[in-house]
Amino acid sequence: MDKYGREINYLRISVTDRCNLRCTYCMPPEGIPLIDHQDILRYEEITRIAKLAYQLGFRKFRITGGEPLVRKGVPNLIKSISEIGDDIDLSLTTNAILLARYAEELKKSGLQRINISLDTLNKAKFKQISRFDLFDDVINGIKSAIDVGFNPVKINVVVIKTVNDDEILDFVQLTKDKPIHVRFIELMPFYKSKWDIENFISVEDIRSRIESHHHLIEANKTDPSSPANDYLIEGHQGQIGFIAPLSKKFCDACNRLRLTADGRLLPCLMGNIEIDLKTPMRDGAGDDILKSIIQSAIQKKPKGHDLCKEGIEKVNRAMSRVGG
Ligand code: SAM
Ligand code: SF4
Repeated sequence: MDKYGREINYLRISVTDRCNLRCTYCMPPEGIPLIDHQDILRYEEITRIAKLAYQLGFRKFRITGGEPLVRKGVPNLIKSISEIGDDIDLSLTTNAILLARYAEELKKSGLQRINISLDTLNKAKFKQISRFDLFDDVINGIKSAIDVGFNPVKINVVVIKTVNDDEILDFVQLTKDKPIHVRFIELMPFYKSKWDIENFISVEDIRSRIESHHHLIEANKTDPSSPANDYLIEGHQGQIGFIAPLSKKFCDACNRLRLTADGRLLPCLMGNIEIDLKTPMRDGAGDDILKSIIQSAIQKKPKGHDLCKEGIEKVNRAMSRVGG
């Protein structure tokens, strides 16, 4: 428990700060200054931290980046983490550029769930948003994920007014015949990303646009700490959901801690507190000391973040360093 009575049992692990895209809302065109290779945690180090977190009660683990699949050997890490305990929930967030190549191996390694980030169904617009002409690779990645049996495949859509808000209903349509869950996410202001209040659209607006065409049926919330509110549509195989980090922040139910690729624990995605775990680990700290550092990060979790869409201050950290 943290000091506000929240059970912290979800570790999001960024395995790299590198990425094969440059999404405008995430990075500047030139990318961000990269962490030195020797400062990136090795897979054995990540697995050790995940084991210690498990001993402290963590059960959900998500691998993210940067783009996790640009780092070699991610399926090996998935396998090591999945073997920590039978009751682990292990997932991955990816832009899917390399997913067709890895989907089967990831599944075999013990990956249970997959979230794919895709903000447009239009090839030209994909290039505009991500700055790379790789739309077809993402579509092939999504097909592979479905073919190898990930069910559902979740697609995260960051909705940007005047850029892709005209595609909201097209994304809803995707859920009709396929086991795809589409989640619409509010745009957040991050360091050096392109963010403008003019581009912000609230989940409430997105929902009302959908509701003028579809009757939404609230889905049972299986995970009370999930930030998404999910809905069913009659006759649709998949679901849709909404994540509102700004307009309806979900800090009261937040159960997360984040680990950066260079071994820092972040109590809050939006805050500036970072706790170095790599240095003591490389200096030979034993398991008990490392566990006490993880516990201290839990105790430093703030009650909530202060971001709001008016007068917004940008978070002084790149999203690609922390993985969302
Ligand atoms: N590269 C992987 C991907 O894109 O799925 C994993 C890392 S990425 C930082 C994780 C998630 O953060 C993605 O779904 C992305 O859309 C989201 N994200 C990045 N910048 C954002 C922003 N400014 N506002 C909202 N979501 C953002
Ligand atoms: Fe890369 Fe993901 Fe950021 Fe896009 S959102 S630039 S894919 S890390």
